[in-house]
Amino acid sequence: MNLILLGPPGAGKGTQAQHLVETRGMIQLSTGDMLRAAKDSGSEMGRIVADVMARGDLVTDEIVIGLIREKLQGDKAGGFIFDGFPRTLAQADALADLLEEQGEVLDAVIELRVDDETLIRRIVNRAEEAAAAGHPVRADDNEGAVRHRLTEYYRKTAPLIGYYHAKGQLVAVDGLGEIEDVKAAIAAVLDK
Ligand code: AMP
Repeated sequence: MNLILLGPPGAGKGTQAQHLVETRGMIQLSTGDMLRAAKDSGSEMGRIVADVMARGDLVTDEIVIGLIREKLQGDKAGGFIFDGFPRTLAQADALADLLEEQGEVLDAVIELRVDDETLIRRIVNRAEEAAAAGHPVRADDNEGAVRHRLTEYYRKTAPLIGYYHAKGQLVAVDGLGEIEDVKAAIAAVLDK
């Protein structure tokens, strides 16, 4: 089973993806995690994306499509969870082609719905808690960058809601509830 988790930053995509990895043996493909790893490794690509990410802008389609292409050729285990990818219509088209090349299909797109002020509070709190505990804080987890990430989401990623709805693949889940309730709602979609 291959699944896209769609939703704005802070909607809980990473938390839910992690749960699906643990319970269903799926593979989480988070382009955000891959890009942060590239940045931390000091690679040339990492240097290119660091400032773009810190501002909350999207990195180029070419870079993220390349990252996903590589992963799709590896182990498929219990299927892929696309977390934070695709974020543009061009990425969505590229994903459709890549899946077809691999003989894979997209089984569902789950949109996690959360209101903006809740998102901003969640992310800023997450950063404050991490800082208080002495953990590293993401460069893009301050209020200014979060608001910009949200603007990018509405301009470039939200059109994917219509794109997947038109294909009959979109299911919306309320992301505002308790984490356990969101897990149950996602499980109900996957087990249908
Ligand atoms: P995330 O961890 O998913 O919130 O992603 C963090 C940052 O990485 C985003 O704000 C973008 O700068 C970049 N990024 C992650 N995934 C993508 C993507 N699919 N397309 C473009 N930029 C991305």
